[in-house]
Amino acid sequence: MPKEDRYGGAVSARTAPDPSSAQRSKRMKETPNALGRTLLILGDHRNLNIILEAFRQARRFGDWQERLDISDPVLAGRLRSLVADGIFTTIPYNNAPLRHEYRLTERGRELWHVFVALWMWEARWANERGNGRRTLIHDVCDHPCSPLLGCSACGALGVTPRDTSAKVSGDSFERSNPSRRYRRAARADDPVTDHQTMTATDLLGDRWSMSVMAAAFLGTRRFSDFQQQLVTIPPLTLADRLKLFVDQQLLRRVPIAEGAKRMEYHLTPKGLDFFPALAAIVAWTNLWLTEGQPHPIVIVHNTCGNVFEPCFGCNVCGKRLARREIHFDNQRRGLSPQQ
Ligand SMILES: [Zn+2]
Ligand SMILES: [Zn+2]
Repeated sequence: MPKEDRYGGAVSARTAPDPSSAQRSKRMKETPNALGRTLLILGDHRNLNIILEAFRQARRFGDWQERLDISDPVLAGRLRSLVADGIFTTIPYNNAPLRHEYRLTERGRELWHVFVALWMWEARWANERGNGRRTLIHDVCDHPCSPLLGCSACGALGVTPRDTSAKVSGDSFERSNPSRRYRRAARADDPVTDHQTMTATDLLGDRWSMSVMAAAFLGTRRFSDFQQQLVTIPPLTLADRLKLFVDQQLLRRVPIAEGAKRMEYHLTPKGLDFFPALAAIVAWTNLWLTEGQPHPIVIVHNTCGNVFEPCFGCNVCGKRLARREIHFDNQRRGLSPQQ
């Protein structure tokens, strides 16, 4: 049965894993659900940077070579797997020798909501690292813009996690955490140390971090509840991620009752601000990767009762942002506007 819970509410009880659950979890990790497949694609620093540069008009192998610090074989491998995942398609631009351009598919282009949401979080919370230091310009009003989260169905702007509720299908978290696809890079995929500010890419690029954050948004607060929710997470890994999130001020430790010694974890304003990114990832996954299977997580906008699909409004002119009408930096207008 799907579990329903308002963000920040008490998590409903879930039965402890039975002895066969380790085997079941292993099997499920090998066949990730749609959310797991999304995390295989986006939970990688390099893929995120390659897709971001595609939104900034990179098309040929040399464009990425120029802009990213990444070796040729690794770049070639990532582009190949992004083609296999349906994010890019190849178009020949030269026959002898054969050369291809990489163009974002519709599925790839629709990731722009995720990238805007990741940018919003970094601009607010991690602007000394990551992409947040770039400016987002709304081409319609020609102003630097701080997007407001909106509901595509009813058009409301300024939607917060508390205006929404979520349904999770039973085994979502077990199957959302597939084994790593890429070999670990020297340091690039390691969680940040506590003296660095975490970027959205660090958060997304660490496969357990995203699951812990998603569980926190679903109202999970206590260590044992996180363990039950995430099933296969090793206790040391869970303790490590919770400590990291407290250090990074995404979560805060609060006594479970006044004067109690035991603590639970609550999302801080910085943690709650990751909601647009999580909502955009969930909506993209449900639209493009579920292939007729049940949606692992469904978020509902309580005000209008529709499934929550994020859109963004401009805080200056109030108009809804369109992919072709925004750009980062002083680059050409539009995010991949020709495609
Ligand atoms: Zn709505
Ligand atoms: Zn505007």
